[in-house]
Amino acid sequence: MELRREYEELKKKIEYHSHLYYDLDAPELDDFEFDALTRKLKEIEAQHPEFVTETSFTQHVGGTASSRFEKVEHAVKMESLQDVFSLEEVREFDRRVRDEGIRPQYVVEAKIDGLSISLEYENGVFVRGSTRGDGLVGEDVTRNLAAIRDIPKTLPGAPEFLEVRGEVYMPRDAFIHLCEEQEVLGQKTFKNPRNAAAGSLRQKDSSVTAARGLSLFVFNLQQIRGRAITCHKDSLDYIAALGLPVSPRYRRFENIEDVIREIEDIGSVRGTLPYDIDGAVVKVDDFSQRQALGSTAKFPRWAVAFKYPPEEKESVLLDVDVSVGRTGVLTPTAVFDPILLAGTTVSRAILHNEDFIRQLGVGLGDTIRVRKAGDIIPEVVSVTKHAEGGHVFKMPDACPSCGAPVTRLEEEAALRCTNPECPAQALRNLVHFASRGAMDIDGMGPAVVRQLVEKGFVHNAADVYSLEKSQLLKLDKFKQKAAGNLLNAIEASKGANLDRLIFGLGIRNIGAKAALSLAERFRTMDALMAAGEDEISGIEGFGGIMAESLLDFFAKEGTKDLLERLRQAGVNMIFRGEEKTNIFLGKIFVVTGTLPSLSRAEAEELIVRNGGRASSSVSKKTSYVLAGEAAGSKLTKAQELGTPILDEAGFLRMLEEGGVQPEK
Ligand code: ZN
Repeated sequence: MELRREYEELKKKIEYHSHLYYDLDAPELDDFEFDALTRKLKEIEAQHPEFVTETSFTQHVGGTASSRFEKVEHAVKMESLQDVFSLEEVREFDRRVRDEGIRPQYVVEAKIDGLSISLEYENGVFVRGSTRGDGLVGEDVTRNLAAIRDIPKTLPGAPEFLEVRGEVYMPRDAFIHLCEEQEVLGQKTFKNPRNAAAGSLRQKDSSVTAARGLSLFVFNLQQIRGRAITCHKDSLDYIAALGLPVSPRYRRFENIEDVIREIEDIGSVRGTLPYDIDGAVVKVDDFSQRQALGSTAKFPRWAVAFKYPPEEKESVLLDVDVSVGRTGVLTPTAVFDPILLAGTTVSRAILHNEDFIRQLGVGLGDTIRVRKAGDIIPEVVSVTKHAEGGHVFKMPDACPSCGAPVTRLEEEAALRCTNPECPAQALRNLVHFASRGAMDIDGMGPAVVRQLVEKGFVHNAADVYSLEKSQLLKLDKFKQKAAGNLLNAIEASKGANLDRLIFGLGIRNIGAKAALSLAERFRTMDALMAAGEDEISGIEGFGGIMAESLLDFFAKEGTKDLLERLRQAGVNMIFRGEEKTNIFLGKIFVVTGTLPSLSRAEAEELIVRNGGRASSSVSKKTSYVLAGEAAGSKLTKAQELGTPILDEAGFLRMLEEGGVQPEK
């Protein structure tokens, strides 16, 4: 009972501090202290899953993964609007509305380029959030939405029930920051902020969503109980007064020509906003008029979305700037006479790679067309006039960062620096080494690593372990506390399991999964280093290329020395049994019947290794029943209680999203 009370108190404390942090932007605790509280809560929950309720913090924000997304049926359809591409079509829309005998007022709003979601509040408490999906059925992403700072978890003074629709978006700064980070880690970068927002929202781990800097604008009232509202503008005013972030710009007009002027005004400033807008929406304001107009099979008749065209302009190519991306890839950027494009001054644009340059046949002095569309970074689209006597730009043979020769890899269009000591590549390797999936050194992100490398404190992974506090204090924004936290995180990383170290070494073609297979097979770094090609390529799932990459890595000059220094520093080189995850934290499973491939013991072991509990009897507390053939009374009981029932395939799918998986 004592522990129960402690748990309840802890829960209240965390809720209070999370409210300060997420809703008020006024935390009293620093992140480290706050994390300590949530860790404690999770420990208790792991021992006593029966304490866990829907209202527990761990069920909403941070660490605990939603292993997949439940479906949500939208009570009010989340309609999509008809797109129009000319102002004349906007005038036609107005004529159609008036032909129905309606004298409309219109609200014009900037249309944010993001991901459409619904938020539901009961008595002022955020209870559910979902994606639009197909408009009728979406996905439950409550936890991830709850991790977004700008979404209020409580709305004091809200009515009994409120559902609003909004657009989750990634501000331009956050997008550029994310792309940089992904580039450093050698990951595929998102094409534009909209994709980035969607990808970040549908994460299985809500702490990833929380870290991505997403934001939200609410643009529609879907349902309300406990208050009568008759028009759109009033609804937005009301929602804003409740404390929800609403569309940044919405105005009401009677005359369609005023509507058009507003569309043009929004268009003229769109490049200067901190987020992307891809259009302007025109909606009939009055709800009863909307009802009278109704919808076609596809779209409501009371609104249209005007899409701004991508803007293209010409300029003269002055230079091509070649930089070494942090993955060692040489990236050409066009430099030209400044032009005004979609509201911003632009003088640089993407030239992609060597093939692209050859296809365009572009050279210095040529007149080029530059476009800025939904994507933030402008690109060169064509050459309109070649300079007289000019020639196609030739990419350099040597790395602009270190001067080493560059090679073109067969399967890639990219040129790459071959020097393993190239500062650009050292940076990339270090960021990878410290990243979440590898040694997980909290506080050692790209910005910090860049400074460590630039200041000459760190050249390779082993140097990380001889960093001193006095050095860290020389970094931007590093005070005693941050330096201490980073040193603690570095110290803690020494205990990382062997597979994380293998992955962290950044060996070509060896991802996290391959690293785990290697660790499981060889158990120690010494055994792995001594392994021959046959032994390695004999591992299930290992092709010749992976074995070759691994052997190359160990044969490389410097590898032995690096590993020896890591060992001296106290970094763990031994595989410690089975990995565990928390994806089933707080979940109770009952396994029954004969499964197609797993034995009951194997299934139960997987449940436990992924943080769940296996029980032998079905009760109201049972989270899932995993049923195979000839499942008897337990299955019947589960059906009576409405307990979710899984088959083996469904169970394995849940594990695919970050869980410890069965052998082979
Ligand atoms: Zn180089």
